[in-house]
Amino acid sequence: MTVWLLGDQLHPESHVLDDAERVLLIEATAFADRKPYHPQKLGLVFAAMRHARDALREAGYDVTYRRARTFGDALDAHFEARPGDDLRLMRPPSHGAAERLRSLVESRGGSLTLVDDDRFRCSPEAFDAWHDGDGFRHEDFYRWMRRREGVLMDGDDPVGGQWNYDESNRETPPDDWSPPPVPRFEPDELTRETLDWVAERFDTWGESTGFAWPVTRAEALDALDHFVEHRLSPFGPYQDAMVGGESALAHSLLSSSLNLGLLGPREVIDAAVDAWERDAAPIESVEGFVRQVLGWREFMRHVYRRTMPDLVESDLLSRSRDLPPLYEGEGTEMRCLDEAVSHVYDRGYAHHIERLMVLSNFASLYGADPRELNEWFHFGFVDAYHWVTTPNVLGMGTFATDVFTSKPYVSSGNYVDRMSDHCAACAYDVDATTGDDACPFNALYWDFLDDHEETLRGTGRMGLMYSHLDRKDDAELSAIRERAATIRNRAREGRL
Ligand code: SF4
Repeated sequence: MTVWLLGDQLHPESHVLDDAERVLLIEATAFADRKPYHPQKLGLVFAAMRHARDALREAGYDVTYRRARTFGDALDAHFEARPGDDLRLMRPPSHGAAERLRSLVESRGGSLTLVDDDRFRCSPEAFDAWHDGDGFRHEDFYRWMRRREGVLMDGDDPVGGQWNYDESNRETPPDDWSPPPVPRFEPDELTRETLDWVAERFDTWGESTGFAWPVTRAEALDALDHFVEHRLSPFGPYQDAMVGGESALAHSLLSSSLNLGLLGPREVIDAAVDAWERDAAPIESVEGFVRQVLGWREFMRHVYRRTMPDLVESDLLSRSRDLPPLYEGEGTEMRCLDEAVSHVYDRGYAHHIERLMVLSNFASLYGADPRELNEWFHFGFVDAYHWVTTPNVLGMGTFATDVFTSKPYVSSGNYVDRMSDHCAACAYDVDATTGDDACPFNALYWDFLDDHEETLRGTGRMGLMYSHLDRKDDAELSAIRERAATIRNRAREGRL
């Protein structure tokens, strides 16, 4: 029997390694030829795999590391060396992946034993036994998980008497606030070698220099300690804020390590809760962080599992425009969007409000095909995997599906103005809707509501938005439509 570890299953204490005789890691390149992945994403995955190989060997495992074009090519070599071998694999969360891998193994005369994915706290069986309705509600799932895991609980009630602290977590920092330091993990020789090979071997999109992501278990643990010590406290109140020139603010930057398996969800949750118990972080920050890891991360995985393959093809609003070239990093005068895209280009990362309220919001209002936006997130972000980007982009980001959201997360420039310092330094006027220098978000927002009225007016909590639209007379609506058409043309031509 051989344990087959995929490139995002790298925790050295994973249960799949229990009593392992041998370990197989396959570094396949064909998938990376299909999309212009961010070089730091490819570098991160391949460097983390190579470091995991060395760490497992040091720990005494007999590790075979195969570099090949495809999994099939590597498995040909494996079964030539070990005919009829049984491979033990943690069930991968991507739709159809387990079945595809089983077929690759069985067609070569081997067998595949699948075990639970311990990178998540809630198994498919547990979720399905709990969930007996039609829709998916995050808040219900989150409270169930808090009780089930005994996290921040006082008996059957949440500690402090509140399940969430959203009201305290929507602040913007004062002008003299300095974000806490960002940890940098300088590449060692093996990582540098890997990054050089990626830059030479693949057609990529994004900046290949400046790589500073954790690639080992030890670095990931350092990143966790650093977050808890320096960033967890301000994370809560400023988690929805955007500040010019700052890509990280107080966000944890742990998602790439969690999704590679370098960190387990329970250990990061315990570290945050421990900080609260030591009075080293306030409850609103700790609860906000636990909500992301124990709530949203797990919830997304199950919504994806239960709604694929329909999810990835859905669009309630039937949008089909190509993503405008500004998403390729060609620049725009829209300061909020220019910053968010450049954060992705430079590091393969933007925080969740930039993802939701700038990058997805603009693509939604512009009318871009949600599937293309999903692909863009998938190849551009260091922490992106199908199970996490697909429900996030198609559900929260673009309202292509209403399986777990009751309204689109769209807004005019007003939201960005409230939550950032971008608008004061922008070439566009956030208070204007029409006219040459009017903030593009404004006309696009009203035009979006007008355009999709038939689908959206009766949906969830859209009444207030439509009551504002109803106050606009024909002349105003006509000027808005004209301005929205001009913006779309300029965006398409790269002149926004
Ligand atoms: Fe963004 Fe509009 Fe504000 Fe400019 S004015 S930063 S485009 S929201």
